[in-house]
Amino acid sequence: MQLCPHCGTENREGVLFCQQCGIALGPVSLSTRQLEENGSPRMGSDNLGDENVLLLQINDDESPIVVQIRDEVILGRITEQADRITYVNLSVYGADQSGVSRRHARLLRENKAVYLMDLDSTNGTYLNGEVLQNGVEKRLRDGDEVKLGDLKIFVYFKP
Ligand SMILES: [Zn+2]
Repeated sequence: MQLCPHCGTENREGVLFCQQCGIALGPVSLSTRQLEENGSPRMGSDNLGDENVLLLQINDDESPIVVQIRDEVILGRITEQADRITYVNLSVYGADQSGVSRRHARLLRENKAVYLMDLDSTNGTYLNGEVLQNGVEKRLRDGDEVKLGDLKIFVYFKP
């Protein structure tokens, strides 16, 4: 058995992503593509790869959160269990000090497209520097910069 460090669910040996929350249980090979640091803006693909896997690289943290997105990912400061929804608790990344709300933003998957939406957060959600209006969904591209209050997250699509 492998215990998911995120939600505590027991998973069978050999499973790569937690059956309950979708977060990677161990290191995931990120293929040969380098995670960009402060490169010039680029236009990444707006389609998810075969496994529907997202990498969330937070601030300058070297090990991204790797999550297989089912229907939804909620970014914020709570851990909850729900069918098809992954709650990513960003508290360990200083979410509190950065002004991240408990339920700050949502990533919604529709087939190979991922949409970002602000959940009426206190300090706002930004996509590539532009504030997201309440209730507006924006399609994400590989390499986009998302800001939740002051917390910066680069979103990558695993090819
Ligand atoms: Zn889990």
